[in-house]
Amino acid sequence: MTVQNRVFIAGAGPVGLVAAANLVRSGVPVTLFESGPTLSEESRASTFHPPTLDMLDALGAAEPLIAQGLKAPQFQYRTKADGLLAQFDFGIIADATGHPYRVQSEQSKLTAILLDRLRGDPNFDIRFDSPVRAVTQDASSVSVTVEHDGRAETLSGRWLIGADGASSAVRRSLGIAFEGFTWPDRLLVVSTPFDFHSVIAGLTAVNYVADPERWHFLLQIPGLWRVMFLIKQDETDEQILTREFAQSLMADVVPGISNYEISHTTLYKVHQRVAGTFRMGRAFLAGDAAHINNPLGGMGMNGGIHDAINLTDRLAKVWNGAAPDAELDRYDLQRRLVTHETIQTQTIQNKKNLESPGPEFRDSLRQTAADPKRSYDYMLRVSMIATLRRATELG
Ligand SMILES: Cc1cc2nc3c(=O)[nH]c(=O)nc-3n(C[C@H](O)[C@H](O)[C@H](O)COP(=O)(O)OP(=O)(O)OC[C@H]3O[C@@H](n4cnc5c(N)ncnc54)[C@H](O)[C@@H]3O)c2cc1C
Repeated sequence: MTVQNRVFIAGAGPVGLVAAANLVRSGVPVTLFESGPTLSEESRASTFHPPTLDMLDALGAAEPLIAQGLKAPQFQYRTKADGLLAQFDFGIIADATGHPYRVQSEQSKLTAILLDRLRGDPNFDIRFDSPVRAVTQDASSVSVTVEHDGRAETLSGRWLIGADGASSAVRRSLGIAFEGFTWPDRLLVVSTPFDFHSVIAGLTAVNYVADPERWHFLLQIPGLWRVMFLIKQDETDEQILTREFAQSLMADVVPGISNYEISHTTLYKVHQRVAGTFRMGRAFLAGDAAHINNPLGGMGMNGGIHDAINLTDRLAKVWNGAAPDAELDRYDLQRRLVTHETIQTQTIQNKKNLESPGPEFRDSLRQTAADPKRSYDYMLRVSMIATLRRATELG
C-alpha cells in the first residue's frame, strides 16, 4: 500500500483542530478524519485559560475567539449560606501571560475559527462522515481503517494523532488501558438567558458556589448563563430530566427568584481517567482520548490543547529533521505525568472542596485571597501555567 507522506488525525474537536493548525503552519501535511457530518455544535467547554489563549494566539485564533466571547478577568467563590467568600483576579499573573483573563466562549466557536483558517491550505485535508475504526502500524508507517458511505478503506500515513474523544477508537484499537473511575454523582447543566448580574450584586462571569448538600457553579457566556449542578446518585433520570426538577434547582440559586426561562438542560456522567500511555510507536493520544476529568476548573479541553501543542511542536521538528524520534517520547513523559500530578489531582480536589462540610476549605481560601504571594501561586495553578512549567521541568 502506498504510504502517504502525511500526519493523520482522528477527530475534529478542539484538540484535533489545534493539532492540525499547529502542524500545517510548520509545513507538515495533515489529513483529518471526523466521524460526524460537520463539526460538533454540542455545548461543552466554555472556559479558555490564559496560557491556552497564548497558544491560540500563535495560531491566529485567539483574537477572533475573544471577539466572540466574554473576557473574565476575575472569578469568585461563594457559599449559599454566606455569599461571597473570595474573589481572585488574573491581573496578578500578568507577568506570566499575554492574556491575564479567562475567555468564556463555547468550544464550538474555536473549532469553527480553526477550520475556517485551515480550509484552502494545500497541506490540509478534512474528511467528514469518516470515523476511524482500526489502527495498525509497522516501523515506518501507520494505517487507519476509515469507514465512509458504508465502505471501509485502509490508508497509510507517517504518524497518527488520536484526538477522537473519550470513547477513542484509536485508543481502543491500540489496546491502551483507560484507568481511573467514574463518579457516582453526575452533573446537570441548565442554560438560561436570565441576567444574574441584575439580581446578585458584584457577580463576576465565573462563580463557584460551595455547599455540602448540592454545590453549583455559574458561568456566563455571550447571551446565556450556564448553571451546573451536582446530581446525587439516588436521583433518577426520570426525575432529573423534567422541567420541574431543573426549575426546582434553579429556584435555589437566588432566594426569591423562580420560574426561569430555560434554553436547555444536559445531564453528564463525570469521570477521572488517564490512558496508560500517550504514545504507542507512530500513534499518539491527545485530549479526551488520553484523559478525562470533572469540569471543575475547566481543565479538560485546556489540558487537551496543551497536549496538542506539546506534541505537534515536537512532531514538526522530527518531521523537518530538526530532532530525533526520541523527542516524541518526551510528549508522553511530560503530558501524562502532569495529567496525573496536577490536572487529575486538582480537579478531584476542586470537587471535594465544593462539597466539604467543614470550614477548612473556606478558611484556607479566604487566607489565600488575603495573601498576595499565596494568591499569585494559586492563580498560576488555577490558570494551568504551573502545570505547563512543571511539564518542562520533567525533561
Ligand atoms: C458539561 C461540560 C463542561 C465542560 N467545560 C469545560 C471547560 O470549561 N473547560 C475545559 O477545558 N473543558 C471542559 N470540558 C471538557 C471538554 O469539553 C473536553 O475536554 C473537550 O471537548 C475535549 O476535546 P477533544 O477534541 O479531545 O474531544 P472532543 O471534543 O470529544 O472531540 C472529538 C471529536 O472526534 C470525533 N470522533 C469521535 N470518534 C471518532 C472516530 N472514531 N473517528 C474520527 N472522529 C471521531 C467526534 O465527533 C468529535 O468531533 C467540559 C465538558 C463537559 C461535559
